[in-house]
Amino acid sequence: MRKRIFASIFGTSLLVIAVIMTIVMGIVYSEIIKVQTSELENDINLAAAGVEQQGADYFTDISTGGNRYTLILSSGKVIYDSQVPISQLGNHKNRLEVQEALKTGRGESVRYSTTRMEETHYVAKRLDDGNVLRVAAKRITLFGLVVSSLQPIMIVLAVALLVSMFLAYRLSNSIIIPLQNIDLEQPVKNYAYEELAPVLNKMTQQYALINSQKRELESSQKEFNAIISNMEEGLILTGSDGRILSINPSAMRFFRTTRECLGRDITVIEKDSKIDLAILKAKENGHSSLQMERDGREFQINISRVDSSKNRSGIIILVFDNTDRIYAERNRREFTANVSHELKTPMHSIMGSAELIESGIAQGDDVRVFAGKIRKDANRLLGLIDDIIHLSRLDEGVPLKREPLELRAYIEEETANFISFAREKNVAVEVTGDTVFLVTTRELLHEIVYNLIENAIKYNVDGGSVTVTTGHEKENAVIEVADTGIGIPAEDQERVFERFYRVDKSRSKETGGTGLGLSIVKHAAMDLGGEIGLKSSPGKGTTIRVTFPIITIKEDE
Ligand code: ADP
Repeated sequence: MRKRIFASIFGTSLLVIAVIMTIVMGIVYSEIIKVQTSELENDINLAAAGVEQQGADYFTDISTGGNRYTLILSSGKVIYDSQVPISQLGNHKNRLEVQEALKTGRGESVRYSTTRMEETHYVAKRLDDGNVLRVAAKRITLFGLVVSSLQPIMIVLAVALLVSMFLAYRLSNSIIIPLQNIDLEQPVKNYAYEELAPVLNKMTQQYALINSQKRELESSQKEFNAIISNMEEGLILTGSDGRILSINPSAMRFFRTTRECLGRDITVIEKDSKIDLAILKAKENGHSSLQMERDGREFQINISRVDSSKNRSGIIILVFDNTDRIYAERNRREFTANVSHELKTPMHSIMGSAELIESGIAQGDDVRVFAGKIRKDANRLLGLIDDIIHLSRLDEGVPLKREPLELRAYIEEETANFISFAREKNVAVEVTGDTVFLVTTRELLHEIVYNLIENAIKYNVDGGSVTVTTGHEKENAVIEVADTGIGIPAEDQERVFERFYRVDKSRSKETGGTGLGLSIVKHAAMDLGGEIGLKSSPGKGTTIRVTFPIITIKEDE
């Protein structure tokens, strides 16, 4: 742009200079010719008057001043020439100026010399005696004038050239620099040219529009990134060429890759042929899915084709971690099977006893024994059903109310319910520790305290003791139930929290145990946002410690 402006300004000035110089040269030349012609006119008139009075002798007394005078008879014969001997001159009758002078009294002609630099101007006048007087003067041609003035012309041209270059440079700068300095961030604040105002206004509007669209785009991009970054599901988007356009952290973990995979082919980061095949299937049919196990977890992968235009289709890969769902389903199946089995055993026993009574095989005191057995089994069944109901409620996550209570007083209340059971087992129960004020759900606390104290008495020894201690630990409340009972073997300590797990089945049956108590305790402790720990040595006793936040996380809903 700058070069073009410079070239056109410079070119125009050169052209103007050339035209002006040509015009000036023309005017100067025509002025020279005018002056010479009038001088020649004066000279011939003066000479004619002289010759008419004195004849050719006139020329002997005067200086010709560089002019050539020729006196020609009407026959064309030259009788006098001021510069050339007349013997060398031929008849001049045919000369244009002579002919014209003979005819009209005055003749004029111009003839070029051998070079183009000079020409000769002839003016002829018929004298009263019929002879013709001719004066000739050499004069410069226009070309000769130009050549002789070449040096000053060149100097003028060079100066003009430099000046026009400088001006063209200044002018092009004065046009370009304001344009270059336009602040495109705030076009309307520029006052470069008035003429640019509509353009700059339009630019400001466009700029604002682009900016708002850019902000919208950025915020939706941010939203999209925030959503996919926080998604638990893995997500990969590929373009029609199979290159990865977007990948979220969950997918990076699944495919064991980093952000560096962006722009690379999906088949490069995933070597499993099952996934490759599923991608091909999705490209053909629009959708495919597969289940696969990786790092001990179960995943479902859904692949869908996204058609953006006729021949362009990307792929979306969604990876779901189904481990927890599959594990929960398996647990539910196992639980149902275990429940049926656990319910069946006492039912069979009841049926057996009832049959013996019904058939009359059991007689006398035996009837009372079998009736007692039926009661015991029914009691066991009730205990089992009770525990199952409690567990189901916990599993369902039924919202429970929180209320403020004092932990130690609450545990003392609970312990009071075990007085007769403890006396029966000959076990001493003591509650000790700090008072702890908290806001919690009474039902969950009940499940924990009831089951722990019941176990501590149930699995105790004759003359043994149970100590329940309350306390604080940082922001948590602590309940510790320690007994001097039979203890739990090391290999069973982890498993006692599983549903229906019992260390000694026959003993547990005897004591009416269901194998659900500790799993209810663990579930309730988790629901309170707490933890459970167990220490036990067989033959010495067991201590179970539950800690949970003083203000529990279980919200009223
Ligand atoms: P159960 O209804 O059989 O008591 P739990 O889930 O409460 O079921 O306990 C699981 C098993 O852990 C019990 O069968 C028992 O063998 C053992 N156990 C629980 N508490 C104690 C304890 N305080 N002392 C010894 N063993 C215990």
